[in-house]
Amino acid sequence: MREGPLMVSKGVSKGCPQGSVLGPKLWNLVFDGLLERITSNGFTVLAYADDAAVILRGPSRSSLEAEGARVARILEDWSLTSKLEFAPLKCETMMMRGKKVGYRTQNLDSGRPAVVRLGGQRLTPVREVKYLGVCLGAGLTLRSHIHKTSQRAAQALSKRAALIKCAKAYRTVASSGIPVACGVLPADLEAARRAKLHQLGLCESGTCTCGDASETAEHVLRGCTKWTPQRRTLEEKVYGNEPPDDLTLYVSKVGFPALVDFARQVLARD
Ligand SMILES: [Zn+2]
Repeated sequence: MREGPLMVSKGVSKGCPQGSVLGPKLWNLVFDGLLERITSNGFTVLAYADDAAVILRGPSRSSLEAEGARVARILEDWSLTSKLEFAPLKCETMMMRGKKVGYRTQNLDSGRPAVVRLGGQRLTPVREVKYLGVCLGAGLTLRSHIHKTSQRAAQALSKRAALIKCAKAYRTVASSGIPVACGVLPADLEAARRAKLHQLGLCESGTCTCGDASETAEHVLRGCTKWTPQRRTLEEKVYGNEPPDDLTLYVSKVGFPALVDFARQVLARD
């Protein structure tokens, strides 16, 4: 590197830190060699950052597979010379039916996709691919993308506007941050919480419906006005006419079955 009269040199083997200022430029320099090789062999390639899509055309599955093998060789050669590896698991193939007259499109049934191997590994055939944030279906329609995007937008809009008001937040606030600012659970967690309560047969509040206290065992057994008649029966069976201060007599031959009876009546109500 030369800056005025100053010259600095440094040996670099490979790699650059993620998120570095120079990273994207360096990557472009390296990646450009590959794009050049692909296009000079007559293929069309779309690339953005480290993401590339090579477009192969052919009248039949076998011709697509031959083209695929040709591209794979180019990629493998470049991989060797540039000492950079592809991740075949992150590569996908998708067949799309074109409109070109004369192509025997009946041979391009996407139920039996063309096989392309990279570095000895068969690439995963997919029926839908997401490229630069857009979902493309095998029919080259945007139906799937529009469906997914509108679903997401509807979900976000239904709660976003109201939550921004509650949070007194800026309009540009991240949706995921609003519930946190409001002190409420995000909608998906709230739904999961309510589903769990329902599944366990629990209700929102622990307050007894008599309105006096928490619906604890102690409250039901000794204080709750909803169970006064049943409690009278229980106490008569166990203690006669003198209500107890301590509950030890419930743990007796007579007391326990009576207590169980009482508990059954309470539980049967719900
Ligand atoms: Zn009560």
